[in-house]
Amino acid sequence: MNFKQDISVLQYNTFGIDVRAKYFAEFSTESDLINLLQTSEVKNNEQLILGGGSNILLTQNFDGIVLKNNIKGIEVIKEEGEFVYIKSGAGEVWHEFVLYCIENNYGGVENLSLIPGSVGASPMQNIGAYGVEIKDVFYSLEAVNKETLQKEVFLHKDCEFGYRESVFKRKLKNKYVITSVTYKLSKKPEFNISYGAITQELENMGVKELSVKAVSDAVINIRESKLPNPKEIGNAGSFFKNPVVDAATFSRIKAKFPNVANYPLENEEVKLAAGWLIDTLGWKGKTLGNYGVHKNQALVLVNYGGAKGKDIYDLSSKIMEDVKEKFGVELEREVNIY
Ligand code: FAD
Ligand code: NAP
Repeated sequence: MNFKQDISVLQYNTFGIDVRAKYFAEFSTESDLINLLQTSEVKNNEQLILGGGSNILLTQNFDGIVLKNNIKGIEVIKEEGEFVYIKSGAGEVWHEFVLYCIENNYGGVENLSLIPGSVGASPMQNIGAYGVEIKDVFYSLEAVNKETLQKEVFLHKDCEFGYRESVFKRKLKNKYVITSVTYKLSKKPEFNISYGAITQELENMGVKELSVKAVSDAVINIRESKLPNPKEIGNAGSFFKNPVVDAATFSRIKAKFPNVANYPLENEEVKLAAGWLIDTLGWKGKTLGNYGVHKNQALVLVNYGGAKGKDIYDLSSKIMEDVKEKFGVELEREVNIY
């Protein structure tokens, strides 16, 4: 086994945090992974399964083993009427998978264009953007049980998907390594363009006939104009989830803040835009030396270079306390903290 020891993980996390890992190893096949899981380096140390490192904040040196997933391969495994089932290795880059679908005119993931990270992490937090979530196209996944070393198949119902949630972030946390994901896409796509600025952007682009490519391009244009590129400014996307509150809490907030950005859900609950809450309290653009809150997007915490993960974590705690004090709402971190 090829273990690296005491290495910097700077290049493996989009926040650009320079901490060290005690051990580091990569795997490109399921059998590599199973062999790795039987080594003393893995068995006797805490493990961090790593994809693109775009949803983690490292607050200290990692006193364990980082296992980087490089399992590749995209294949159509079944076609059934208008549907096509595509299996992808967990180590594929998510956006490369999206591009594959667009080239082949398979619909379903175009709204999820340009989300950083790996295919294997897509079910972890049920990635979502512009009104589409992975649960809408998910069919099944394969994962290796770290205890038994057996491969298991999880169907949709087994994953307990929720808003930026799945069973793998909750009761099965750290128990499995996802090795492949199968998605069910459509050869007769139905487009979802009502969310955010997509319709406007399609108009600006002069699009006359909708296609998966046109919707993907519109999403890419919007994302590139709004979100910091991690290659230029370290970040992990939205640091917090949008909170969901009950009707009574919402009425109380609305009475004091009539403009509160809100999206009613079923069962009388209301989703609040965490970015609006943070912005309203004046945090947007706040810079503390080499880190802070992004100037255009209050949900995104940023590392301008050389920041410590612990400082960014402490900033997130201050924002959470402020939101709790002023709005009475508990924010929850979306980013995984190590
Ligand atoms: P990592 O950061 O490598 O890992 C995240 C967590 O999943 C870790 O706990 C890790 O241990 C675990 N994990 C990763 N792979 C596996 C595996 N194969 N098996 C078991 N556990 C695993 N997210 C959205 O939902 N929507 C967005 O629109 C969005 N936009 C973003 C924009 C930017 C600029 C950035 C930087 C991030 C954005 N994100 C978004 C967050 C992030 O891209 C996603 O959560 C993505 O799925 C993370 O993938 P990753 O491979 O980088 O995961
Ligand atoms: P936006 O379009 O400015 O919207 C702000 C917030 O309002 C979003 O959080 C979104 O919730 C919500 N919203 C907007 N229109 C909505 C609608 N029609 N119905 C329900 N909720 C609505 O957001 P943005 O920051 O530019 O991001 C655009 C999309 O990309 C969003 O879906 C966002 O989740 C996603 N994104 C996610 C991350 C991440 O790291 N998780 C990072 C960047 C962008 P939702 O977040 O629930 O969609």
